[in-house]
Amino acid sequence: MGFKVVVESTEAKFSACHFLKEPLQCTRLHGHNYYVSVEVSDHLDKNHFVVDFTDLKEKLMSIVKPMDHYVLIPTKSDELEIREETDSIEIIASNKRYMFPREDVFFLPLPATTSELLAKYIHSILKEEYKDKKISVRVGESKSTMAVFEE
Ligand SMILES: [Zn+2]
Repeated sequence: MGFKVVVESTEAKFSACHFLKEPLQCTRLHGHNYYVSVEVSDHLDKNHFVVDFTDLKEKLMSIVKPMDHYVLIPTKSDELEIREETDSIEIIASNKRYMFPREDVFFLPLPATTSELLAKYIHSILKEEYKDKKISVRVGESKSTMAVFEE
């Protein structure tokens, strides 16, 4: 695997809010501007590409953009109770209760919405498209902190 293509995070970014189980400051509803980068490694194909850049970028954007300006809620969390009503979502998290408009919520099939698991989520969708290639997904939630999932 000598070659690698990279889509940098200049365009693949999204803003969203979430809350985590800990630490304390992260248990409060807060937001991030997430920056996503992807690297794909493989041998060259018959056209001398690892992958088509345009396809990779479009695929990445199609994963990232649906999360932009939404409240991210993990549906596989053991700590949250999620109640869906017709046009609202009620979330009970230990001693807190949130109520969001249904249209403002983006559900993720994850135990938590950490950057690590967001990277793994994005990776899992890209992997459907690029099965045999090594993919590295980097999710940054600030200029100095990022999480990477690669396989
Ligand atoms: Zn956060």
